[in-house]
Amino acid sequence: QQEIHLANRPVGLPTMTAFDFVEKAIPVLEENEVLVRTLYLSVDPYMRGRMIDAKSYIPPFQLNEVITGGAVGEVIDSKSDAFKRGDVVTGNLNWAEYTAASDKAIRKIDPTLAPITTHLGILGMPGLTAYFGLLDIGKPQKGETVVVSGAAGAVGSVVGQIAKLKGARVVGIAGTDEKIDYLISELGFDAAVNYKKDSFADDLKEALPNGVDVYFDNVGGVVTDAVFTHLNKFARIPLCGAISSYNNESKEVGPRPQSAMIKTSALMKGFTVGDYTADFNTAATDLGTWLSEGKLKYEETIVEGFEHIPDAFLGLFKGTNLGKMLVKIADP
Ligand code: NDP
Repeated sequence: QQEIHLANRPVGLPTMTAFDFVEKAIPVLEENEVLVRTLYLSVDPYMRGRMIDAKSYIPPFQLNEVITGGAVGEVIDSKSDAFKRGDVVTGNLNWAEYTAASDKAIRKIDPTLAPITTHLGILGMPGLTAYFGLLDIGKPQKGETVVVSGAAGAVGSVVGQIAKLKGARVVGIAGTDEKIDYLISELGFDAAVNYKKDSFADDLKEALPNGVDVYFDNVGGVVTDAVFTHLNKFARIPLCGAISSYNNESKEVGPRPQSAMIKTSALMKGFTVGDYTADFNTAATDLGTWLSEGKLKYEETIVEGFEHIPDAFLGLFKGTNLGKMLVKIADP
């Protein structure tokens, strides 16, 4: 079988040379392990951070070892009492066609309740991230204005929709006109602004007649600088991601948020979804209910084929995805 190893630690935007395709035998199971055939792999922006050898909330990928990430697969052999052939499972799997997974590292999903890919998107890590960052830190109130950057992506699209459910006015920021149309006409955002246009600053101002009460930040950089000029008194800012800087070769410089935050008594708080593991079940139930009631919608960009995993990952930094970026490896 094929697996993908990290070949070197990329500087700047990674290229294909960062990835090595390696031929390996299908793993032999030990006790309490399950052989999982990969069906869908998730590519996520945080994986860029794992390519750097630095201390973080999650250890770096090791050089010349297999890359791992969120995935959905099918059990094809089991040495565990907890799983049997045919079970559909999710967990962290290898960027490989088959993974020998510990039975503690995967969990069963019910393919009859929702499409299996939703466990990597709206019902999985990105959906939970949106839920906790927005509701626990952002705390949107009826009639307030919520701005979300990276709005047409996996996390951002859920943030905006939950904010609408809570009665907020929602403004999205994204990088193409197609995404802007999608946010307004499909997801019901009140306004959306393309940050790549020369008129971005003016368009943003026009979209924010009442300022910003909650800014859910997925991207950082110049987009965030612009939003900071519109903060209202007591604004809340869940700091979720800063994808604009993940490929930077030197430290960020730019306008600093301090004076805008002091003047507005704003609250900015970083978080990772892992802070909320104790409450995952409640959140997953809420998200599942809203999805089944048609109150939440989602989009997926599915790249087909194992050989295209690196392209899909790199696409995140070019904005080639609408909604969750996934790679389809095999049919169930
Ligand atoms: P997305 O599905 O949003 O994909 C990434 C998107 O980022 C692209 O589609 C692109 O959209 C946008 N983007 C890329 N480069 C830039 C740039 N230079 N400036 C502005 N936007 C850019 O990814 P996710 O929803 O999975 O993740 C969104 C953010 O949330 C990331 O920063 C990620 O690291 C973070 N995150 C944090 C978690 C946590 O626990 N704190 C958990 C999960 C994600 P466009 O066309 O609009 O440019």
